[in-house]
Amino acid sequence: MIHVESFCDDSTHANTYLIEEEGHVIVVDPANHIKVLQKYIGNRIVDGCLLTHGHYDHFRELEHFLRLYPNCQCYLHKEAKRKLFDLNMSYASAFGCKKIPEIEENRLVLFSSATKVKVGHFWVEIMITPGHTNCSSMYVIENAIFSGDTLFKGSVGRTDLWTGNPVQQKQTLQNIRSLKQNYIIYPGHDEATTLAEEIQSNRYLK
Ligand SMILES: [Zn+2]
Ligand SMILES: [Zn+2]
Repeated sequence: MIHVESFCDDSTHANTYLIEEEGHVIVVDPANHIKVLQKYIGNRIVDGCLLTHGHYDHFRELEHFLRLYPNCQCYLHKEAKRKLFDLNMSYASAFGCKKIPEIEENRLVLFSSATKVKVGHFWVEIMITPGHTNCSSMYVIENAIFSGDTLFKGSVGRTDLWTGNPVQQKQTLQNIRSLKQNYIIYPGHDEATTLAEEIQSNRYLK
């Protein structure tokens, strides 16, 4: 069974998650605390990195992470790739970042439709969840969903940013609502919740 650890810092307010099982780990949204994470990971094998969407506050330390773990690849929606290398589309410039990350093409694994992939030790189900951005994706591993800025505890991601789309968001939320299992939701910001709790109390899922 997987074990999930969350790391958040005050500057981005974004959550970085470490998923671990049997000496293997996956990192979701390398936003912050990569040094802390590295210490915490220790000798365990890092199988890869999952990006929930192409906003800078969620991938801020991706370049650094990929340098630290040269055998790792980062999984992301193909539309998120454009944002990685565009300081305006990713809102990196809004965070005062002036440097486009140096990431080689072969370090990125792009997808554009729902699929299930084996990332090292882990089976990862990819859900395409446009709305907050056109590249928003959720990752399902066992009973956990890493929802990025698609779904929060009691709220959802805003749709007024670049490539946001309220109509698509509505459809995405309907799809999430129809999921059969009671998943634990690990969002891109704020605290974790469960799907059952959100269906009951999150007004955006009504
Ligand atoms: Zn976002
Ligand atoms: Zn965010």
